[in-house]
Amino acid sequence: MSSPRPNRTKIVGGTIVAYRDGAHRILDDGVLVFEGSKIVHIGHSYDGPADLVLNARGKLVIPGFVSTHAHINVHEGTRLITDVGRRDVMRSGFLNYTPNNGPDGPPYVAAAIPQDTIRFGFAQLIRNGITTAMAFGGGTPGAAKTFAELAGESGMRVYYAPQANSAVNYFTDDGRMVEKWDEPKGHAELDAQEKFIEEHHNSHDGRFQGIVVIRNYALATIELMRRGKEIADRRKLRLTTHFCEQLFEFHRTVRDYGITPVDLMEREGLLGENVLLAHAIYLAGHSYTTWEYSNDLEKLGRTKTAVSHAPLVMLRRGHALEGFHRYLAHGVTMSMGTDVMPHDIIMEMRVGALACKLIARDHEVGRSIDFFNAATLGGAKALGRTDIGRLEVGAKADIVVMDFDNLQIGPVYDPIRSLVHLASPDLIEQVICDGRFLLKDGVLQNYDERDIVEGGKRSFQRVVDEFPKRHWSGKPVDVEYPVSLGRW
Ligand SMILES: [Zn+2]
Repeated sequence: MSSPRPNRTKIVGGTIVAYRDGAHRILDDGVLVFEGSKIVHIGHSYDGPADLVLNARGKLVIPGFVSTHAHINVHEGTRLITDVGRRDVMRSGFLNYTPNNGPDGPPYVAAAIPQDTIRFGFAQLIRNGITTAMAFGGGTPGAAKTFAELAGESGMRVYYAPQANSAVNYFTDDGRMVEKWDEPKGHAELDAQEKFIEEHHNSHDGRFQGIVVIRNYALATIELMRRGKEIADRRKLRLTTHFCEQLFEFHRTVRDYGITPVDLMEREGLLGENVLLAHAIYLAGHSYTTWEYSNDLEKLGRTKTAVSHAPLVMLRRGHALEGFHRYLAHGVTMSMGTDVMPHDIIMEMRVGALACKLIARDHEVGRSIDFFNAATLGGAKALGRTDIGRLEVGAKADIVVMDFDNLQIGPVYDPIRSLVHLASPDLIEQVICDGRFLLKDGVLQNYDERDIVEGGKRSFQRVVDEFPKRHWSGKPVDVEYPVSLGRW
């Protein structure tokens, strides 16, 4: 399925964001050469032969982006709840669509069509210049196998395992959202996860990597988390979980343990360099927590714990991390996630920067370079790698080439600021991962884009059509989630 890999490719004449002496640097009118899966030369010139020469004059050449938190699908549920949704889930988006219908029933989004919805997600990530993604999702071990196959087909680097949790949320017949705890089920899921990792880790030329996934801190016992951490340590893998994305998680831990979630994680040995916390919004010091008695950020920094920051979806629900600059100042490894939709990591960098400035009331923070670093080097560090997120000799040939000479970009004074504040994914022309073109001259190489779009629509329509019979309320979707305009 993968596109053929040219033996040696030379990218000539572009503005290259290349890595040297511990940081990204700008190399104008540079040459980058890759051979097989690796970068073999970066400099002002290269006289050697090449099978393929790409003229990059007027282009920006950057590392493939790393999204450390991506739900890879159509986001049928998320599409329904912008501006609307239940008030009692305290602005959490996913609690509108992930809880089961009854204690054992699936959620209504389970009507999605697996192959269509997953392929749509991968194709969209590639279109956005993302070459590595930490994937959340899956469900049963059966669906996980399909996911692994589709990840291989995509040509991307993917970190994934089917998730484990001690509890699920579900809606009762009268519409209350409650929890069902089942610890043995959580441990069985963790067993299945370890078996999956055993079978699939390092497959697809090493592009597919296992990761220990606890779905949600709020729905996991300490015992389950400890076991997950033990597996991650023993197998030298990362562990990831949704962490303090919702305000109630913070207060529930304070109520139950008298300390913050970060305090509890530290006490139980659950922080560390191999831990990647998704979101980590409601920590001590966030104004909504009214808790000033611990220095959670200092603990995350000291333990080298990583955070995946995905500001866009949070801003859509009216909340934000406070603030990105404070996390950096405490030495927290900050990476960028694209979470649900539209996997537009350029937009994530931009709205993250704007939110940071607004929250700090300070235009000098939320710098473009901080967000670019998070979307490249930070993501690599969060995944424990030094061979991605950077263009350097010996690093993987994960490369994005963008048109940077057009009406939208205009004159370029600082390419990084232009990228973060002016660019958009439609300017991306080439996406290369592991030395293979996933997008070439604007065309997806491993997919028929029209088929992908039609598949995405088909999956979404099925969720909409089956909504009344799958949603606890039994109502049509547009009654539960009203649209902006009435019909003609
Ligand atoms: Zn998530």
